[in-house]
Amino acid sequence: MKIYTYHAKVKKDFDVTNLISQLTSQEEIKLVAIKRNYEEDLKKRLSNLKIKVDFPIFSDPFLEILLSESEKILISIHVSAPETLEIKVLSESKDKFTLLLELIKSFNGVEKVNYGTFSESKEIEKLKKVLKLSPHGKKLINKKYKKVFPKIYDHKIREILSEIIETFSGIPVPIEVLKDIETVKREGKTADRIFKDNTLTSKSYMITCSKCYGPSFVTFNTTAGANKALKNAQYICPRCKKSSPEIVETFYVKEEVIHVLRGGLWLENFIDQVMREETENVWSGVTIDTNELDTVAILNERTFLIECKDTSFGQNDLYILMEKARMVDANIVIIVTTKEIHENVKLVITKYQEEGERKIYLIKSNNTEKIYLELQNILRKDRERYTEAVFKPERESLPEILRQVRGLRSVRW
Ligand SMILES: [Zn+2]
Repeated sequence: MKIYTYHAKVKKDFDVTNLISQLTSQEEIKLVAIKRNYEEDLKKRLSNLKIKVDFPIFSDPFLEILLSESEKILISIHVSAPETLEIKVLSESKDKFTLLLELIKSFNGVEKVNYGTFSESKEIEKLKKVLKLSPHGKKLINKKYKKVFPKIYDHKIREILSEIIETFSGIPVPIEVLKDIETVKREGKTADRIFKDNTLTSKSYMITCSKCYGPSFVTFNTTAGANKALKNAQYICPRCKKSSPEIVETFYVKEEVIHVLRGGLWLENFIDQVMREETENVWSGVTIDTNELDTVAILNERTFLIECKDTSFGQNDLYILMEKARMVDANIVIIVTTKEIHENVKLVITKYQEEGERKIYLIKSNNTEKIYLELQNILRKDRERYTEAVFKPERESLPEILRQVRGLRSVRW
């Protein structure tokens, strides 16, 4: 279950009770107004006791909670700031309440429905003023890189590519030579996938000497191209001076793959994508003043700051990160690192966890599936906290109701 939040500006004379009636009377998604029903039921019981109540029993007259048991949707409707309607929906998918959202949008007095809560929209405005897209951020939205990112989420693929890049950079190398690389030997199947994937690697054809395999500096994109060149010119080996050319198929790692792997851009992209599953309010690869921020997100009325490190994360990185967290006023700071973390740094993190005003989490893994699960776990915990805060007023007002009823009983009638 996820929480989807919206807020809408409404006109001064907006009638929330009327909206509730309209929402509960539509046929497609059967909704029950829990608070209204409860209040009516309570008043009926009281009237059986000959107690007449002509004031709203619930302390907050502007809150309603609607429930659809068949669709498993829980909606809280709340008038918060002046002329602002807050709509919070607990549902498995957004599609299920699209219809209701359309109904709310078209309701008389509703001006514009925005994604997110009213307080979030204030935070978003503040952030938008100070955050600037960094060179990193530009790469994250670059089409050429975007195609590469999902292909290298697999850590085995990254390991193989990294080793090839370390050894040969982007130079075309015959497949036999590549097969001598340790990880290629060990992860043969994955390596084959890499060589077949033209997003990651490219083939080229090299003319070389079949006698001595001397160096060749001429490569062609196709065998046809290489053949044509051979026909047109006589090949004489620069090393053994023989004329016995051979066309060899070679592979090289594409330039954009090298860029995306170096500097951990892939990790930033991965975290960005996971956060985008949760909210539209995500900014990745941005700067504030001169500081680089990997991902900032607003979710459940909280500001998240996520730092991604594909290299080691040290003490100094931590101090800088906490300073950045202060600048964006983050409630939750998450460090995602693929490398081991020094014990001293862990100690400082624990200290922040115990004493700091922000929640701080550490995810240490090279495996995107694990990173995904751990991040989801953090988000789930925060969502639970938020769900409780959003739908709790009902439960809180129960003792209040009882107090009022008891008070009424003690009144003589
Ligand atoms: Zn030769």
